[in-house]
Amino acid sequence: MEKLVSLCQRRGFIFPSSDIYGGLSACWDYGPVGVELKRNVKEAWWRASVQDRDDMVGLDTAILMNPRVWEASGHVTAFSDPLVECKGCHQRFRADDLPPEAEGRCPSCGGEFTEPQQFNLMFKTFMGPVEDAASVVYLRPETAQGIFVNFANVLNTSRKRLPFGIAQVGKSFRNEITTGNFIFRSREFEQMEIEYFVRPGSDDEWFAYWVKERLGWYAGLGIRPENLRLRQHTEDELAHYSRCCSDIEYSFPMGWAELEGIANRADYDLKQHMEYSGKGLTYLDEETNKHIIPYVIEPSAGVDRTVLAILCDAYDEEPDKDEIRVLFHFHPDIAPVKVAVLPLSRKENLAAFARDVYASLRPCFATQYDDTQSIGRRYRRQDELGTPYCVTVDFQSLEDNMATIRERDTMNQIRVPVPALAATLQNKLAGEDIFVLPEGGVIWKEETKGG
Ligand code: ATP
Repeated sequence: MEKLVSLCQRRGFIFPSSDIYGGLSACWDYGPVGVELKRNVKEAWWRASVQDRDDMVGLDTAILMNPRVWEASGHVTAFSDPLVECKGCHQRFRADDLPPEAEGRCPSCGGEFTEPQQFNLMFKTFMGPVEDAASVVYLRPETAQGIFVNFANVLNTSRKRLPFGIAQVGKSFRNEITTGNFIFRSREFEQMEIEYFVRPGSDDEWFAYWVKERLGWYAGLGIRPENLRLRQHTEDELAHYSRCCSDIEYSFPMGWAELEGIANRADYDLKQHMEYSGKGLTYLDEETNKHIIPYVIEPSAGVDRTVLAILCDAYDEEPDKDEIRVLFHFHPDIAPVKVAVLPLSRKENLAAFARDVYASLRPCFATQYDDTQSIGRRYRRQDELGTPYCVTVDFQSLEDNMATIRERDTMNQIRVPVPALAATLQNKLAGEDIFVLPEGGVIWKEETKGG
């Protein structure tokens, strides 16, 4: 993890928040490369969850909501973790998240703990110019409630019939007691949540459907299946509203931990909001002509944890001649940069040619142009960004109008006519073998790994 954190900082993926002021505990900033990676993750999720489906619609609700929402949802009274304080050094810890080797004593100084107290994880702030109890509002600790309170709005405007779902991506805030493990647990983070409404009685079936669907989504991002597993919550772990819940876990460097929770919340949320708001949040069942309260299946994922899993999964070090090559094997769909154009020299005629190549590729893919330092260094840099393909142009290109494509994972190279570059790269990014050549193309270099 330490290597990953330092590479992420060095290459512009992730920085500590407010870095020049010494950072802010458990808050992180995504740099120029990280923001692209994160956007690609969110877009892949949105495509799979909304755009590619007829039974889903999207939503983007406010972070600040009427405080009654959090009374109805149970967050004001129950969204808390047990907190203990060390009587010796006064550090505070989450009682249910202490390392087993600490054996119930302070992991820092071995001191005795106070009795656990419930600590509410919601951040409070004030709405308007008066700071009193009546103006308290919360920063949302989950995006889900924005979906429930809009159930009737969406139903009336989208005319969806059961089963259907509502999806939302957005920031959430939790005043976590213990943070750490880089972006795994932060106080400000992003969630990707689905509330999928179904007829009561069909909920078990839909629960199983979403577990399978969501596991498949992570595998489709290139995460190795052996690093993913499903963990079903035991009876005593279940939240009071939850009929069943399974976590999709990833084998992070610190051990198996939750990436996403999938819960069968039954009709708990809609019922609570009906009671607290006095508004009808029922569904007129066209089969029976009766009003019913749908059950809901909730797949709730974390953007930052998905990014972390992708970073961990794609990170690699391999021997390369006398050195170590560090690279990210990102799936092309989520790689922050898809193609880098690297002219072999900065000489003017070659630079102009390379710029033209770059201009022709940029509308098609996230493309970078880099003409600094030696070609070896530039390949290294692109490997560390996880760029799947580098395109090099040299003086021979000026004569034969050909360019070289170098594949990140194998370092094999082919040479193809410039007019065929964009189409060839498109095919390679879609999974075609590097040695499948377009007309006029030739194999340029076949690497023996580790040689
Ligand atoms: P944990 O037990 O790890 O605190 P949780 O069970 O409270 O997580 P949920 O309430 O189910 O988490 O939230 C759904 C998803 O939101 C999680 O699976 C995770 O990916 C993400 N998430 C929750 N809290 C955080 C956090 N503090 N930092 C980053 N991501 C988070």
